[in-house]
Amino acid sequence: MKFPSKTEAKTEIYSFFQKQSFNSDELKKIKRLAMKYNIKLGPYKKSFCKKCMTQLRGQIRIDKHYKMVVCANCGYQNKVIINR
Ligand SMILES: [Zn+2]
Repeated sequence: MKFPSKTEAKTEIYSFFQKQSFNSDELKKIKRLAMKYNIKLGPYKKSFCKKCMTQLRGQIRIDKHYKMVVCANCGYQNKVIINR
């Protein structure tokens, strides 16, 4: 995959996260692309498991300071800090 500009790479990445489902291979490709163009994933980081790179679906636990999503695939606890 080669993209002539950062803008096009960004478009590709953002449209990827609009999809209803994706697998870990696709995600790895997108992450590589983001790294290459130094594009921040920002809020999209929350949509996949940090450990197994699959789409994050699972039990959500909310604490005072963070939200925890237990990955249904590998059981890893993904912490998301809540500021307010
Ligand atoms: Zn996982």
